[in-house]
Amino acid sequence: MTAEDSVVYFNLSTDCEATGPAVADAALGKRATQGLAAILDAEGWRGSFFVIPTDIEAHGALYREIAERGHEVGFHVHPAAQGYAEFCGLYGPETQEKIISEAVERFVQVMGEPPQGFSMGYASANDYTYPILAKLGFTHGMCSMPGRILPECASVWAGAPLFMHYAHPHNRVLPGALDFVEIPATIDWESRMWGGKHPQYLRVELVDAKNHFYTMRLLRKLLSQQSLIDTSSAMNMTPGLVEWGAKEVGAERLLYGSDSPCYFAPMQRARIDHAELSLTEKQLILRDNAIRLFQL
Ligand SMILES: [Zn+2]
Repeated sequence: MTAEDSVVYFNLSTDCEATGPAVADAALGKRATQGLAAILDAEGWRGSFFVIPTDIEAHGALYREIAERGHEVGFHVHPAAQGYAEFCGLYGPETQEKIISEAVERFVQVMGEPPQGFSMGYASANDYTYPILAKLGFTHGMCSMPGRILPECASVWAGAPLFMHYAHPHNRVLPGALDFVEIPATIDWESRMWGGKHPQYLRVELVDAKNHFYTMRLLRKLLSQQSLIDTSSAMNMTPGLVEWGAKEVGAERLLYGSDSPCYFAPMQRARIDHAELSLTEKQLILRDNAIRLFQL
């Protein structure tokens, strides 16, 4: 593994909507944005703040200032705030363009220039949305929520790409050549919550706290119990992952698993055979740990 391989690039974004009906506390929003920006500044990081029109209007000076400090001030929209239905993905192209461009005008009034980054309320979109964003001059955004199946919010993203990609001009869940870069939220592709409608994702919000605590508690339990972790996963093909696991928890805690018939057992096996691990470590994963666990 080279130093270049070990650099982690990530995008930290926050929707700023304290003046929306759910919070309706402009002062709290100002403190939150100031606090987040200060933390990012202290670490030398830059964040993306996706702001609804009424927050921009309430705190124009603050957002102009954090933009000068190098943070991105992007654009977030909830159509209901403009008198439309809540979910943008319900609308055809003309109405979507009208909703977004009306709100953009208000952004320009305060910031002096149009936003380039975009985030849609409820990640509600349809196949018209990306071409409209590109047409209105947006260059990138966080519109998708890979794995989400929420038709009641017109927010269906099953199978959408997990990683950054150019959007497709005609199909929202495919990568394409539209001049708009989609930066999806980070999700755990192997989890489901909300009755199976949504994968767990790296979202810091009270409603999700119990899920994060659940994951943390589970990990703590797994690690403290000396339990074994099975290697089967579609993602164990990721370079360095099995090796990383062996380094983190020790090869004596990893157990070969195939998850067959979901995955192809010989391929799962080959991943261990060809891992950059010692022969002893491979023997532990493939044989000795099982002998110990099952008292064979
Ligand atoms: Zn929102």
